[in-house]
Amino acid sequence: MAVMISVPPPAQIPSRNILVSFDRRKVRSDTFVMAGLLAGRVTRAQKPGYPCDRNTEEKGNAEVYDYIIVGGGSAGSVMAHRLSAKSSNKVLLCEAGQDTPPGNEPAEIRDSYPGTVYFDPRFHWTELKVTTQVVSHNNPQAERPPLRKYEQARVLGGGSSINGQMANRGAPTDYNEWEARGAAGWNWNGVLPFFRKLERDLDFDGPYHGTDGRIPVRRIPREHWTRHSEAFAQAFASAGHQFLPDQNGEFVDGYFPVTHSNENETRASAAMGYLDRDTRKRPNLTISTDTQVRELLFEGTRCVGIKAIVGGKEQEFRGNEIILSCGAIHSPAHLMRAGIGPVGHLHELGIPVLTALPGVGQRLMDHPSISLSSFVRRGARMNEHTRRHMQLGLRYSSGLPGVPKGDMFVVVLSKSAWHAVGAQIGSALTFVNKTYSETGQIKLSSRDPKQEPIVEFNLLSDRRDLERLMSGFRKMAAVQMSEQVKAVTDKPFPAAYTDRVRKIGVVNNKNRILTSIAATLMDGPAALRHYMIDNFVVEGFTFDDVINDDEALETFVRKNTIGVWHASCSCRMGRADDPMSVVDTEGRVKGVQNLRVVDASIFPVVPCANTNLPTLMSAEKIADAMVR
Ligand SMILES: Cc1cc2nc3c(=O)[nH]c(=O)nc-3n(C[C@H](O)[C@H](O)[C@H](O)COP(=O)(O)OP(=O)(O)OC[C@H]3O[C@@H](n4cnc5c(N)ncnc54)[C@H](O)[C@@H]3O)c2cc1C
Repeated sequence: MAVMISVPPPAQIPSRNILVSFDRRKVRSDTFVMAGLLAGRVTRAQKPGYPCDRNTEEKGNAEVYDYIIVGGGSAGSVMAHRLSAKSSNKVLLCEAGQDTPPGNEPAEIRDSYPGTVYFDPRFHWTELKVTTQVVSHNNPQAERPPLRKYEQARVLGGGSSINGQMANRGAPTDYNEWEARGAAGWNWNGVLPFFRKLERDLDFDGPYHGTDGRIPVRRIPREHWTRHSEAFAQAFASAGHQFLPDQNGEFVDGYFPVTHSNENETRASAAMGYLDRDTRKRPNLTISTDTQVRELLFEGTRCVGIKAIVGGKEQEFRGNEIILSCGAIHSPAHLMRAGIGPVGHLHELGIPVLTALPGVGQRLMDHPSISLSSFVRRGARMNEHTRRHMQLGLRYSSGLPGVPKGDMFVVVLSKSAWHAVGAQIGSALTFVNKTYSETGQIKLSSRDPKQEPIVEFNLLSDRRDLERLMSGFRKMAAVQMSEQVKAVTDKPFPAAYTDRVRKIGVVNNKNRILTSIAATLMDGPAALRHYMIDNFVVEGFTFDDVINDDEALETFVRKNTIGVWHASCSCRMGRADDPMSVVDTEGRVKGVQNLRVVDASIFPVVPCANTNLPTLMSAEKIADAMVR
């Protein structure tokens, strides 16, 4: 008998829905049953101290789900909602992180200003570290680039619960390229209906916009912008760029109010949109948070279930289909641990090969980015209208031969961190939107699912990306030197997202006090401010260094380019005969049965967009094909 219960949240146990499937006649000890309930699942008589023999009796009793979704992030939330909309489907959603109960989401997640939750370890895979600079595999003697933290969400809603809320789709040419690379049916006309389906645009309607989707999107009206944003907008206009009221309208160059997934100054995560109160009432949907899936279970090449740690105990769940939605770093790691991946690498780790798929974990992508920051004068900083610090964006064409239009993106930030110094620093973050560096990779460090994989982004492996970041930086330097921007800023500097920045970005009293003192001094005389920026903020390169010397600029860009958390493309969708494709156009993993990947890993190439909406769109499109 299966019973859905909602366990009220005692202090140390996060609230979750738990599936309980048990035979009442065999229950002997109330205390132990209660422990079993809290652990997740009780299927047979169990006494404390008696190991549970899952392979015999439990298998007999076990409920078989139609779908088990591993990972309740952006894609997983969509899949759980859409698949459970059909009442005959029994759906289990397992999320390693904590729940975000409707109406009771942590304040940091709800906040329009996302900079606090970015750095909150409660919502991250805290052990994950990556390299961004190119790793030389031809020269084993070469020093490995430094490891950096790379935040990936571990919370219901996944990336959409901690991200910057930027909500855009990319260029029509991106999706035409997806189709050309083997994703039949995923051209612009094939994907636009699903972009429209997922959103409820609060400002615009018409052929590009959805009006009744689950994710509200909006823009900060220009009259509410900071004077800092307004100055950049005027400088963009003076440089010849046109104003576009709607970033998500026709994909042309210009500057615009950035679209973000938010309503009433509150984030709209995938969990808020797709796992709302009504969806959670569905009797055929079980959401199990704090549930880390450790292993995929196979019978031959058929995936039949998962092993997970629920409330500290290992549990097995059986499903007719398993859907991996763990994100572009963890989904390929699951496949490789199950023996699905590049044969040589599986042999290195002694993993028996279930099916050879050389593309698993390969060609990982992100958008390379670089920042130019400056001190923002009083009166030009954040105002009373909004806590959103990213109000203005610019799309432009680099003009590099052979590169599609709108290949570059700039977002203007009127604040750089939650603390007092962060409130005084603004930035222009430039990223290569049409990225060509495709040599990133994910490999297992160990067979142990507790160990994070080895992640190499190799961000500037294609020279075109380096050149455009350098020219993008020069372009923003010119904007920075414009009269409009100079009037509201002081002391520009090339910014580096270093561990020092990260450390001071953690919310605690020490950082609050230190930054308050520093901010008071920074608001003092210009000479003191310049001294402080040169000595405590800038690391390595000054503004003059990099604008007067191309070599210094190249060194700065190579060293400080980081991704913008758009990890993707590590289990690409493609044609069956493409040796590097991992899944077909409905996310089915090649060479095995009953296993799909649906998340940002399946992108055939990263689009000219922040990746949340493209991920939600991909899940909507695949779910639609599955329930049809
Ligand atoms: C800090 C940050 C800022 C970003 N800013 C933006 C932005 O402004 N706009 C934008 O469009 N995009 C942004 N992105 C990117 C965007 O959010 C992601 O591309 C998108 O969320 C990816 O969705 P996904 O479903 O592929 O993976 P995720 O949303 O990451 O979901 C994966 C989920 O799987 C869970 N999981 C993993 N392994 C297991 C396991 N073994 N067992 C159970 N659960 C597991 C994880 O905990 C996670 O919740 C940002 C991302 C980050 C991290």
